[in-house]
Amino acid sequence: MQVFPSLKRIKIECKYKKLPKNTLGRVKGKVLMKREIDVEALLIEGKVKAKIKREKPKEYEIEINEKLKGIKKEVIRKQIVQHTIIHELLHIENEDLISLTKDYKRRKKKKLHVKEFKNEVFKRYNEVRKLNGLPPIERKEDLDMAIGKIVEELGI
Ligand SMILES: [Zn+2]
Repeated sequence: MQVFPSLKRIKIECKYKKLPKNTLGRVKGKVLMKREIDVEALLIEGKVKAKIKREKPKEYEIEINEKLKGIKKEVIRKQIVQHTIIHELLHIENEDLISLTKDYKRRKKKKLHVKEFKNEVFKRYNEVRKLNGLPPIERKEDLDMAIGKIVEELGI
């Protein structure tokens, strides 16, 4: 969380879950819908006009593909899980899902995984490694390949 200072006041829960194919992780925001009363409409027209305000979630749930439990070496599993969590945290920071949480499928239509996003995940991941006393990974491509290999092996 240290590499995401902007998310300090947000509650985030992480748990393993059965996820669709090709999905390492995903995040859901608990969107609070506030129904507000339009005072003027009520007092003048006698009717309540629906006014729904969607607020930025303060709570999120990150789901991690349970197949990752199949990584026998704990050190390796921890790295992959950490990378997955960082990816999802960046979606939260970028507010990628605020308006789209109701329908997860719609999220895919918006281009989220652009090059800059992936580079930023890589950067933050290396920062976390540093905090954990691990050397940084030099090339993003190598990491992508390593993750790709694990994903393939586990049949994710
Ligand atoms: Zn993503």
